[in-house]
Amino acid sequence: MTELTEASQRALGIPTMRCFKRKNQIIFNCPECGQMHYHGIPSGKITFGREDPTGDDNGEGHRVSHCMEDAFPNGYILKLDPDEQARHDDQEGRIFALEERIARLEYKVAENFNMEEKEIIKLKEKADRLLF
Ligand SMILES: [Zn+2]
Repeated sequence: MTELTEASQRALGIPTMRCFKRKNQIIFNCPECGQMHYHGIPSGKITFGREDPTGDDNGEGHRVSHCMEDAFPNGYILKLDPDEQARHDDQEGRIFALEERIARLEYKVAENFNMEEKEIIKLKEKADRLLF
């Protein structure tokens, strides 16, 4: 595909999306439908049957729209954005911390449950001794 000039991009109604990278995908939160749209990043071009690391690209460029709303008939331009990347990394960090807290709480609940269960077993044993 030939490079689009800013003027032709505007004329064709092709927006530029601010993206972040995650593993081998370039991702953005769609302003039209509110969904995340994921586009694969080629890991590297194949030269003589081998992967050529110099052929690696960052996934930026013109892509066919993944939007279910058919909002971008001429596609959009993906562009990596350091602010978007930082914001997303921060969100992931917070989610990770929350998941750890939940796991600790679940462990505590399980521990307390076991304590109660032990008490119940002791009481049952006492009751059995009294009955027989
Ligand atoms: Zn969309």
